[in-house]
Amino acid sequence: MKLVTIALGSNQGNRGQNILQALTCISERIGTIIHRSPFYENEAQGFESKELFLNGCIAIETILEPLNILQNLKEIETDLGRNKKSDPGYSSRPIDLDIILIDNQVINLEDLAVPHPRFRERLFVLKPLCDIQPTAVDPLTLQSVQELLNRCPDKSVLTIHELKEVR
Ligand code: AMP
Repeated sequence: MKLVTIALGSNQGNRGQNILQALTCISERIGTIIHRSPFYENEAQGFESKELFLNGCIAIETILEPLNILQNLKEIETDLGRNKKSDPGYSSRPIDLDIILIDNQVINLEDLAVPHPRFRERLFVLKPLCDIQPTAVDPLTLQSVQELLNRCPDKSVLTIHELKEVR
């Protein structure tokens, strides 16, 4: 059994509903959600967009192998309306699902890098990650998530946003 941290983001359509649908798909197809952070609203980074992002993190337990987890996440992104071909590079998206950590594994494959190469610079990942796993250790820098958050140069403003369950 592996403990896997996944970052979720959405800035298109009904963002809360996209996130909740992704959570349902992840628990049905990949594994059991053990922790779920608050979700935070914040401005898009890396590209111009008037549409604010909702970002958060979950920790799941799964028996799936890393590439199988990634494949499932890509399928969930496609099922929730993400069109990779018309979304080159950074752009608005109904859902973005990234693997941040898998236990203390280091993976460097063409399609998959773990820990996620940019998670240390992103407050919208580190803050929710620290909410659920402050003592998890980054196997590359050997710093805890709390230490990475304390040293993060990203000073974006994150505002807690309550996810509304759809009935
Ligand atoms: P993005 O547009 O940010 O969703 O990037 C997705 C691409 O990054 C996919 O084609 C993945 O193969 C690749 N990738 C590499 N490492 C990771 C990771 N840790 N989590 C998710 N996608 C990854």
